[in-house]
Amino acid sequence: MKDNNITTGINIDEDTKRYYPNSMLASQIIGFCGSDNQGLDGIEAKYDTELKGKQGAIQRHTDAKGGEIGDEGEKYVSAIDGNDLILTIDSTIQSIAEKYLQEACIDNKCTDGGNIVIMNPQNGDILAMATYPSYDLNNPYEPYTDELKEVWDSLEQSEKTKNLQAVWRNKAIADTYEPGSVFKVITASAALEEGVVTDIDKEGQFSCTGGIEVAGVRIKCWRYYRPHGSESLRQALMNSCNPVFIGLGQKIGVEKYYSYLNKFRLLNRTGIDLPGEANSIFLAENKAGPVELATISFGQRFEITPIQLVTAVSSIANGGNSISPRVVKQIVNSQTKEVTDIEIKNNGSVISKETSEKVLSMMESVVSEGTRKKCKSCRI
Ligand SMILES: [Zn+2]
Repeated sequence: MKDNNITTGINIDEDTKRYYPNSMLASQIIGFCGSDNQGLDGIEAKYDTELKGKQGAIQRHTDAKGGEIGDEGEKYVSAIDGNDLILTIDSTIQSIAEKYLQEACIDNKCTDGGNIVIMNPQNGDILAMATYPSYDLNNPYEPYTDELKEVWDSLEQSEKTKNLQAVWRNKAIADTYEPGSVFKVITASAALEEGVVTDIDKEGQFSCTGGIEVAGVRIKCWRYYRPHGSESLRQALMNSCNPVFIGLGQKIGVEKYYSYLNKFRLLNRTGIDLPGEANSIFLAENKAGPVELATISFGQRFEITPIQLVTAVSSIANGGNSISPRVVKQIVNSQTKEVTDIEIKNNGSVISKETSEKVLSMMESVVSEGTRKKCKSCRI
């Protein structure tokens, strides 16, 4: 027995494994670990150095052949726990978001799934960030839908990997999309801030004839068949009238418009403390002509991530400041229990308080009496 380096009958070695008590909850935010407990995705990867702690060990002095030297025997070095992270995620809000997202994706047959982001605009805290479908953090390599479970064994390894990588993906930060009409609030903010419009309720300030000519191209209002006619800015937003916002974009001009894209932090990643954030896709400023400016003004022909939109709209909601989003707010030292607050990141003023109040008041009208009447919480 001695020759095989087994000294006595049974040796017990302690081992640790991550266990996630809320298996499916917030899986794409939390992420999971590899076989050596190294973080591979989500917060587990981003904060790996904080979380991993120090491994314990059994030390002894040996010669080149592994024979013991001296008579000190073995020394046991105990492991040091990793630090604790306090997340901004509210598990109740997260569960509710996941529940309704799942229902909405199933009801609307969203084959690509979907996501919901809920952010506190005052401090950037992400209260919920749901992605559907979700997966079990305790079994990240297992099939996650009934359809996949049925065919899993017959799939090639590459197919399995493709499916797993798709479900691990945090769509709210890693995927871009064309935001559409919700982007009109950005154009309205820039127009008010630049003084292109001042009174949001001035009757007859704008007139929709069903379309607008831009550099020889006629761009239609979505309700070209029955034009909106005379409108105030509030009415134009409630009607989601394209020509009015194209007209505002023209008055603001490419250079100024792009300066607002920049101030709203839509040209850069938000810097959220999660891995895999994508950036927006806008035409370069020097390539943007009148037609491109027109389509950007009502939210088309460019792509942003959901987190970029939520961050931009949060600066309208909080009185005009650009606050970076975050998912970790405190780190607790496992040894000393000392709590370190993570600073709220304020990137400065985007629009004035007065402008933000005007835009908020119009946004309220959109959901209380305008085109989004049915959905007070839709999209934003
Ligand atoms: Zn119109």
